[in-house]
Amino acid sequence: MPGRVVVVGSSNIDLVMKMARLPRVGETVTDASFVQAFGGKGANQAVGAARAGGEVAFVGCVGDDAYGAQVRGSLQADGIDTRFVFTEPGVASGTALILVGGGGENYISVAPGANYRLTPGHVDRAREAIEGAAIVISQCEIPKETLEHVVALGAKLGKPVLLNLAPARPLSGATLANLALLAVNETEAEFLTGRKVASDRDVQEAAGALLARGPGTVVLTLGARGAYVAAEGVRALVPGFSVEAVDTTAAGDVHCGALAVALVEGRPVLEAVRFANAAAALSVTRLGAQPSAPRRKDIETLLSQG
Ligand code: ADP
Repeated sequence: MPGRVVVVGSSNIDLVMKMARLPRVGETVTDASFVQAFGGKGANQAVGAARAGGEVAFVGCVGDDAYGAQVRGSLQADGIDTRFVFTEPGVASGTALILVGGGGENYISVAPGANYRLTPGHVDRAREAIEGAAIVISQCEIPKETLEHVVALGAKLGKPVLLNLAPARPLSGATLANLALLAVNETEAEFLTGRKVASDRDVQEAAGALLARGPGTVVLTLGARGAYVAAEGVRALVPGFSVEAVDTTAAGDVHCGALAVALVEGRPVLEAVRFANAAAALSVTRLGAQPSAPRRKDIETLLSQG
C-alpha cells in the first residue's frame, strides 16, 4: 500500500449563480439558476488525490455553521480522513460567491472565513497526520505563517512537501529551499521570477530560475500545452492531453492531487506528471471544482489511449 497524501489547506463552499447576463452595479438580475458546490484549493486537491486513487487526509478549518458540516461530510464521502478538520467557533466556513454570465464571464468574491483561522498551532495538533504522510501538499489560501510552518515541519520530519503557489504570494527563501516540489502555473511563475512567461524559452528559463532557488523539482503547468518539469538532470515538457475544454476551474488543483498520488506510488517524475496531465485534462471536460475531479479508472483509460 503506498503511503498517505496529507493536504493542509483551504476548503470553500462555492455558491454559483448562472444568468443570461451579469448585472451592472446596483442592478438586480432575476431568472438566475443556482448551484452549490464544494471548492477551495486545498479541498479540491484532496478530492483530486482521493479520486486518483490516493489514501488522503485533510487538515484545515471550517466554521461552526451548516456549511462546515457539509464540507466535512463531502470530504468523507470521497473517503478522506477528516480527523484533523477543525471547527472554529464564531466564524463562517470559507465561501466563494460566483456569478456567471451567458458567455462564461464571471464575478467572483471569496470570503476566506475559517480558512484564515488555520494556525501553526492547528498544524501541530495534526502532527500525527504529517508524521504518517508519504507526501504533504499545501497551497496559499491559508495564512502565510501557517504555510511556512507546514513546510518547516515537513522538512523537520523528513516529509516531502509539494507546494502549489496558488494564489501567488511571496515566499521566504528558506521555505522555497525546503520544498520537494514547487508547482506553479505561468502567472505564478511570472510573479515569483518577475519575468514574462510566454515563449518556450521563457518557460525553460523560469523553471530553471525557480529550481535554482532550492526546491527539488519545479513543475510549471502550461494549460492545454501540459507541464514543464525541471529537476536535477531533468528538463522536459510533458505534453497535455487533447480534450474538449468546458471549464478549467480546479485544473491546477486536480493536477497537484494526482501528481502527489503518482509520486507516492513511486513513479518517476515525468511519468507522474503525465498521470497528473491526464487527470487535469479530464477535469477540464467537466463543470465545477470538485465535481470535475476524475476517478482513477478514467485517468487510466485516457493514459492508455495516449
Ligand atoms: P491553473 O488551473 O492552475 O491555472 P493550468 O491552466 O496550467 O493551471 O492547468 C493545469 C494543468 O491542467 C495543465 O498542466 C494541464 O495538464 C491541464 N489542462 C489545463 N487546461 C487544459 C486543456 N484545455 N486541455 C488539456 N489539459 C489542460
